[in-house]
Amino acid sequence: MDALPPFDVVRPRSLDEVIVARAAHGESRLLGGGTDLVVNIRRGIVAPPVLIDINGVPELRTIKADASAIEIGAAVTLAEVAAHPGVARHYLVVAEAAGHIAGPTHRNMGTVGGNLCLDTRCIYYNQSEWWRAANRHCLKTTGTVCHVAPKSRSVCFATFSGDLAPALLVFDAEIDIAGPAGRRTLPLADLYIGYARQDEPVTQTRGDGKYFLALRPGEFVTAVRAKNTPGLRSAYDKIRIRRSIEYPVTGVAVALRRDGDTLADLRVAFTGTNPRPVRLSGTAALCGGPLDARVLAGLDALVRDQIMAMKTTFTPGHYRRRVAGVLARRLVQRLFEVAY
Ligand SMILES: Cc1cc2nc3c(=O)[nH]c(=O)nc-3n(C[C@H](O)[C@H](O)[C@H](O)COP(=O)(O)OP(=O)(O)OC[C@H]3O[C@@H](n4cnc5c(N)ncnc54)[C@H](O)[C@@H]3O)c2cc1C
Ligand code: SF4
Repeated sequence: MDALPPFDVVRPRSLDEVIVARAAHGESRLLGGGTDLVVNIRRGIVAPPVLIDINGVPELRTIKADASAIEIGAAVTLAEVAAHPGVARHYLVVAEAAGHIAGPTHRNMGTVGGNLCLDTRCIYYNQSEWWRAANRHCLKTTGTVCHVAPKSRSVCFATFSGDLAPALLVFDAEIDIAGPAGRRTLPLADLYIGYARQDEPVTQTRGDGKYFLALRPGEFVTAVRAKNTPGLRSAYDKIRIRRSIEYPVTGVAVALRRDGDTLADLRVAFTGTNPRPVRLSGTAALCGGPLDARVLAGLDALVRDQIMAMKTTFTPGHYRRRVAGVLARRLVQRLFEVAY
């Protein structure tokens, strides 16, 4: 599919109108900036008959960030997040992650909701229709085999690559969701259900890689928010093939608190490696003492255990895992040493 297929665009003016439109058009997709969705439509990966453009909904366009909390509407653009003084001052990791997504034009169009709900990626999936047809497609679309792991039974390992999610995960962010059945709030971590487990049925809390978001039919994200933790220092770093405009090979968000010479709190999250963004578990055991070789070796071990990195990109999986560990270690050391 090289030309865009026909579709209708609906432009609601309020949150209630979005909910009504979602209920009325079961196969619709939400349109943020379209910087990923429209590419996938052009490639014939998805063909929604209706796009619901949420950019004209004032309730989804607000952004608040101060010393106590951050709240960003789903239709706020990445450029707006990166340039917001309150975000840069109190949630630096979020501003840095937003400011390093794709290129400037994408950031002017791309939205927070679209970034958090970004489709997962794979070298066998993000290709033209004829390329995928020549390879008999794959499990994530209409094929029967996963080309990355041919013995996988019904499981897709495509990689989540959104940069904002790890930055928000280090603050234990929550998301607000709306849909025809009402509204609810979910820990952001629970939005991502791409666990890639075999032989387990798909449920609302466990996906199979093809289903990687815990959104029920008709639901969409309205906002993301988090409380601040006093004294937390944070930053984001990523490696990409083309530095000016590219998805992360791996991206890492770190937030830590230093109390004198003691590492008092450590939070690390990754993107670009697993079928979901990963908030590293086990970092609390590394806290309580100086940032020494034991802590850095412990961090490396956690990364080795929890970063999966299958061969879904042009870079080998083991390379991505090593880069993830190196980036995390460097960022932790830099944040610990920086004068505050
Ligand atoms: C060359 C290039 C480089 C890129 N580099 C990066 C990168 O470095 N890092 C990165 O993270 N991304 C990257 N992207 C992907 C994309 O530009 C960004 O992720 C962007 O933030 C997506 O937001 P959007 O609003 O354009 O999403 P859209 O394309 O509009 O939507 C993406 C998906 O989210 C769904 N969606 C949108 N809003 C909502 C909502 N409120 N609730 C539920 N579902 C919703 C859509 O239906 C669609 O399935 C790149 C893209 C390109 C083309
Ligand atoms: S991981 Fe396997 S099933 Fe998923 S997109 Fe790649 S080839 Fe397809």
